[in-house]
Amino acid sequence: MVARAARATDLTDLDGAVADCFACPRLVTWREEVARVKRAAFRDQDYWGRPVPGFGPPDARIAILGLAPAAHGGNRTGRIFTGDRSGDVLFAALHRAGLANQPTSVSADDGLALRDTRIFAAVRCAPPDNKPTPAERDTCAPWLHREVELVRPTMRVVVALGAFAWAAWWPVLRHVYGQRPPTPRPAFGHGAHWSGESAPTLLGCYHVSQQNTFTGRLTPAMLDDVFTRAKHLAGVA
Ligand code: SF4
Repeated sequence: MVARAARATDLTDLDGAVADCFACPRLVTWREEVARVKRAAFRDQDYWGRPVPGFGPPDARIAILGLAPAAHGGNRTGRIFTGDRSGDVLFAALHRAGLANQPTSVSADDGLALRDTRIFAAVRCAPPDNKPTPAERDTCAPWLHREVELVRPTMRVVVALGAFAWAAWWPVLRHVYGQRPPTPRPAFGHGAHWSGESAPTLLGCYHVSQQNTFTGRLTPAMLDDVFTRAKHLAGVA
């Protein structure tokens, strides 16, 4: 898998290779079981049931790094943050920021297009309880590293959604940018900020999970502030 990731010559090639990955036995079993059993509300739909590639243009200046696809969201529709409540909140914010052409993301063929923004996850398969193991995170890392390599020429800002994504960034720094991660690692927090020499600026943002958005821990105004800041740092008008 590491070799396959390294061989990907562009994002289309990478996306196809990601979608065909079977490297984590527990996650392969889970994603396929969820796709077979389904949630009652989606029982008439064909679930994707495979790894979920990144989404967005190859010349993105802003990256949004998430944790992993949702069992009945990305794992159902085949597009990251698509078809679940987290995505509803995220894409509404991206639309308000002028980074998405529509405020909703319901299916892979709904016409959604992003501007200057690419979204990808640290782990590409839906994990039980949204909790990948450290071994699964490490096994999946080469896909993330190669994706960052491919968008590196234009990418200026990374918005890490949650502490898991924030922590997943430091190995990227070493593998893709050849930089030693700072010691101690900067703590994650909403509004946290880190910038290195030649690497993109890292911004922390609470995850758009229902746990955060339903409780008011993360509000639309807070998301608007993050994307306004990301656009400014990335030089996106
Ligand atoms: S989590 Fe990543 S490495 Fe594991 S099977 Fe899915 S795509 Fe492959």
